[in-house]
Amino acid sequence: MKVLAINCGSSSLKFRFMELGHEKPLPNIQRCYFSGIVDRIGGKSSIRFTSEEGEITDEYAEAPDHGEAVRRLFDWMNEKGLLGRDGLQAVGHRVVHGGPLFSSPAVIGDDTLREIENLRHLAPLHNKLALAAIYAARTMLGHSVPQVAVFDTAFHHDMPDRASMYAIPLQISEKHRIRRYGFHGLAHRSMAERYAVMMTTPVGKTRLVTLQLGNGCSAAAIDRGRSVDTSMGLTPLEGLIMGTRSGDVDPSLPGFLARHEGVDVEEVEGWLNNRSGILGISGYSSDMRELLCEEARGNAKAALAVEMFCYRARKYIGAYLAVLGGADAVIFGGGIGENSPQIRAHICSGMEWCGLIIDRGRNAAVAGAQGLISAENSKIHACVITVDEEAVIGSDTMRCLSGRNQCS
Ligand code: ADP
Repeated sequence: MKVLAINCGSSSLKFRFMELGHEKPLPNIQRCYFSGIVDRIGGKSSIRFTSEEGEITDEYAEAPDHGEAVRRLFDWMNEKGLLGRDGLQAVGHRVVHGGPLFSSPAVIGDDTLREIENLRHLAPLHNKLALAAIYAARTMLGHSVPQVAVFDTAFHHDMPDRASMYAIPLQISEKHRIRRYGFHGLAHRSMAERYAVMMTTPVGKTRLVTLQLGNGCSAAAIDRGRSVDTSMGLTPLEGLIMGTRSGDVDPSLPGFLARHEGVDVEEVEGWLNNRSGILGISGYSSDMRELLCEEARGNAKAALAVEMFCYRARKYIGAYLAVLGGADAVIFGGGIGENSPQIRAHICSGMEWCGLIIDRGRNAAVAGAQGLISAENSKIHACVITVDEEAVIGSDTMRCLSGRNQCS
């Protein structure tokens, strides 16, 4: 099946047009016609296409919002004759929040759209972007090409109650549908599935701790292919220290700050989401590469931010090893996880007690690629896996449309 995967980020839109097969292991990508990104949406936007042969074309593309970004993409596909009869057969969209309802991908019809719209109170910022892309694609394609929503929360949907609930009055949780939804589901799944392929073992036989370390960061405990706990909660603010998000804080902190700073809760939430994390600690940057350079120059606050970032990640690895009763592997993904041997070594330092031993040479050799970074005598594998969300979107879209009655 020829599927276009669309993945909306806060100011970018990634896409990949590929042909997928049904044979396992999935995702079974047979051809990738092109991939690319619309970058700096809302600013000096540009569109980059990478052809099947690896040829890159960069073009200016006016895209004030994600809907317009999709229009630019379809204009280009139309010009290339890719929207005709032998072209596009389905579109898959990553939707951040599936709420309590969506535990698997869903064909986008009026009912699905209404349900996603109804989740706005749970994910006011995140779902808005995907909705803009979906509406634009519907307008461009009509009903001739089916579209599927693939939810980032779905992977964590079946976490046990002990992990997914907050210890607050049950009536309040139920009234407002409060639970730990978890996010980055496509990324964690991608790591688990690709690790299984790398080790030529069924994912159903693995126990894994996965770390998605990018601007947003989260950890997951995955038992035989199922998420049993994850660090993000009701919103993506909980858990690990991130680029600009605080991660875990004392739940009394927002009230304390609102009272003592004389501001409202929205203002405090803005500080915790946009001015905290490694940016807040260092007072310098939310970008890990820049912080590592500053640390090397002797900047003590940058060093503290890096130390706190790694310490928090190590705490979660320890917690999830306890949750799983041990693990086959600790997996690193995301911009930081895939590219920084230094951070990976820092996070895993002092974990020899549980049998996690990093091999310095292997670790240094893996950057921007996949590979084993643990020592021969390590009881737990440490691995870098390049996260491929578009592949998961594509294969879920194909699977959903193949068994259509189960997923509307
Ligand atoms: P997003 O969560 O927005 O998709 P990415 O996964 O692209 O973000 O990750 C961005 C982060 O990865 C930034 O903090 C960036 O500095 C970091 N990063 C990228 N390359 C490196 C590197 N070589 N060393 C350290 N950090 C890196």
